[in-house]
Amino acid sequence: MDKFRGKAALVTGAAGGIGAAIVRQLRSEGAIVAVADRDVSGIEADAHLAGNLLDPAYADGLAQAAFEALGALHIVINNAGVITRGAVTNTTDADWALSLGVNVEAPFRVCRSAIPIMASSGGGAIVNVASCWGVRPGPNHAVYCMTKAAIASLTQCMGMDHAHQNIRVNAVCPNEVNTPMLRTGFAKRGFDPDTAVAELGKIVPLGRIAEPEDIAEVVVFLASDAASYMCGSLVEVNGGKAVG
Ligand code: NAD
Repeated sequence: MDKFRGKAALVTGAAGGIGAAIVRQLRSEGAIVAVADRDVSGIEADAHLAGNLLDPAYADGLAQAAFEALGALHIVINNAGVITRGAVTNTTDADWALSLGVNVEAPFRVCRSAIPIMASSGGGAIVNVASCWGVRPGPNHAVYCMTKAAIASLTQCMGMDHAHQNIRVNAVCPNEVNTPMLRTGFAKRGFDPDTAVAELGKIVPLGRIAEPEDIAEVVVFLASDAASYMCGSLVEVNGGKAVG
């Protein structure tokens, strides 16, 4: 119940499916949480830091803003993300800039500023939300897969480079999760999201795709002292459905 009592956390993408579940679980275990997203007005939290992660000044200042609002910063969850579809030949300059900006540059900026803050108060934990496609790519999402491979690699690098400061950096790598990201993708392609989610679940060994809470549980574990010897790990959360 009080696993995170006295801990202060920053969660990006807090208005989204997985982000909202992470915020709920951290707060239910006693953490105080600063939520970051473009619109955070409807979210129950201890600090609200609305902004666009494509704005370098916002991303650079987010950790310090969370530290000032909460009085401490022990946990950072880089969860915000966007997905663009298509092979390289179908990828526009705008898709490229958006994908790299949100999925790679923003967590780089947030980590770069958060690490010294966390180190100066004895350390902490960073969890990045990558993807199973960051470990082994899937078809027709070339730039998305590349961005998730980039954040997976950055996680491993930061895990090595900042362990001596008592900062553990890990990533979760989900397969399909029942969130607005997945559902709007189905809707855009003309599929009914409920039917598509049910169909997709049939080819997962556990019989269903993930709910946001399934992913949040693992994120929260990696952020907790229970994961005290995990550092630089990429944890696949896939219901038994590994990408081949
Ligand atoms: P979601 O679309 O529900 O949530 C993503 C959140 O990120 C949104 O609230 C959005 O507003 C925020 N965001 C996007 N661009 C932003 C920007 N420029 N500035 C500020 N906030 C911004 O999606 P989700 O499924 O909850 O995704 C969370 C993470 O999980 C993402 O990194 C995603 O790539 C990853 N993921 C999702 C799935 C899946 O199937 N849903 C699978 C693997 C990995």
